[in-house]
Amino acid sequence: MTQLIACWRAGGTQRAASLLRAGALILIVLAALLAAPAYARQGGSMSVTTSEARPDFANQIVFSLSAESSAADISQIQLLYGATRNDALTIVDLPVSAGRSVSLEHTLDTQVYYYPPGTDMTYRWVIRDTNGNTLESEPQHFVYADERFNWSERTVRNVTIYWYEGGDAFGDDLAGAVDRALSSLQSELGAELSQPVRIYIYATNGDMRSALQANSAEWIGGQANPTLGVIVAAIAAGDDAEVRRIIPHELSHQVLHQAIENPYGGAPPWFDEGLAVHNQEVRDSDFDQLVTQAATENRLIPLEALSSSFPADPNQALLSYAQSRDMVEYILNTYGEAKLQKLTDAFANATPVDVAVQEALDRTVDELDAEWRKGLPQPSGPAPDLAGPQVAPANRFSDPPVLPDGMAPVGGPAPNQPFEQRPSGFIGWLESLPAWATLSAAVIFCMSGVLILGAVLLVTLRLVGVDKHH
Ligand SMILES: [Zn+2]
Repeated sequence: MTQLIACWRAGGTQRAASLLRAGALILIVLAALLAAPAYARQGGSMSVTTSEARPDFANQIVFSLSAESSAADISQIQLLYGATRNDALTIVDLPVSAGRSVSLEHTLDTQVYYYPPGTDMTYRWVIRDTNGNTLESEPQHFVYADERFNWSERTVRNVTIYWYEGGDAFGDDLAGAVDRALSSLQSELGAELSQPVRIYIYATNGDMRSALQANSAEWIGGQANPTLGVIVAAIAAGDDAEVRRIIPHELSHQVLHQAIENPYGGAPPWFDEGLAVHNQEVRDSDFDQLVTQAATENRLIPLEALSSSFPADPNQALLSYAQSRDMVEYILNTYGEAKLQKLTDAFANATPVDVAVQEALDRTVDELDAEWRKGLPQPSGPAPDLAGPQVAPANRFSDPPVLPDGMAPVGGPAPNQPFEQRPSGFIGWLESLPAWATLSAAVIFCMSGVLILGAVLLVTLRLVGVDKHH
């Protein structure tokens, strides 16, 4: 993933600005657990009297601590918090008025630092006294639950479903869809969920949107975060078609993610999304027509291009989902489940896509692509001379720009609901710009982000005096 994407998707400048505004010294430390041995647990003279986290979903989490010391004044307190499944905790240096007994609170604004409902959170404290002793408290956990609704809940194997409208009958529908999806995924991928997954079903789009990050695109039908094991979706009670479309699609992402989880890579989008769309019990029937028409008009997207990210252009994105489903189904029908599993295993070993395809299917990505195209209508003319790059910027404009980190829209585009009807306002305007304008804007936006982040980092490093930790 390039820096451009990371910057674009994380909203680098916005975050940097709020960091400055907050005036808090916040360091995001990767693999904080690895860093933990640097803190000696030698706080024999210090003790924690109370330590708690009070989540108030969608608004904030208040962390509070009371600590005492018998030997010397407590002079420094750090809060470390984060999603339990992330290999990262955020460190906040809290202002302390030094003394033998200290009580303080830290309010985390979760409108700015967003976590989806149902996220397992971990936090701990690092307390130092003026004699140089350090006390590191044991990690504490809580679930950042959305308490605004009266949830019913049902657990099927490793998946817990939460819903609040439609009663037991709707719960049966949801549980049935989860059970069927897990069974077919197990036979297809030879994998089960090793880690639990939570699915939150909101009854209306408005309710769901109130649980998403404030700046989420209006067309989002839901969000999935495979890393955190959380799925958030809007499905009206009794809408069985949506249940059978969204549940298997999202569980497919979760099962695949857990099966191939490694820090060095993953499956290419065409494999991940193709498998997810293929697993839907409700077939997106208009996808067949999309692929056929693109083949006839000689504007199919090269499979190679679908190995990076899907284009932001709504029509191209829709075609990407459609082609991906076709490719996965072509592999399943032509080579069978065993080969699909071989491909999955290769991705699990962080094998690059071209090598994985060669190893599992004994052909290059281009050969596989050509083979699949033979079964489609042949182009009736030369490739259209399309103005501007159609596929090239895919790696920069992969996902709609307002999606939060690591989030993907649930279920992809709805059947019979083309993408272009969904974006509105700013996103719609962005998409109406020519590609070169969007690209330039993105470059400028990201470069300013990098500059501001660089400045923040410099200031932070000087304030912290990074070397003294080691
Ligand atoms: Zn998807």
